[in-house]
Amino acid sequence: MIKRLMTKYVPGMLTCQEVDSFLYDFHQGNLSFNQQLQFKLHIAMCSECQVYLDDYRNTIRLAKEAFVIENELVTTSIDKVPEDLINAILSVRKSVDSAKIVNNEHKD
Ligand SMILES: [Zn+2]
Repeated sequence: MIKRLMTKYVPGMLTCQEVDSFLYDFHQGNLSFNQQLQFKLHIAMCSECQVYLDDYRNTIRLAKEAFVIENELVTTSIDKVPEDLINAILSVRKSVDSAKIVNNEHKD
């Protein structure tokens, strides 16, 4: 109720809908100085938008964590190891094996 009066009578006060639409740009740093002030002023006075902003930040954090975990899975997956790398490892192993054989021949 107070919030409704606030957004109606305080000049430049954003509505919750406007805060919602500014949220992405706020995080991207795309808002002008005045828009940032209006955004922060609304957040400071509106508990609903504070909760909403927390949820938004948590969602971003979780999404980033999920992305990192997914990336680790991809890079450690054997299917994703480059074929060149596998061939390089195999060729090194082959040359080590043949070097052993050469050494053994020299010993004998
Ligand atoms: Zn609000």
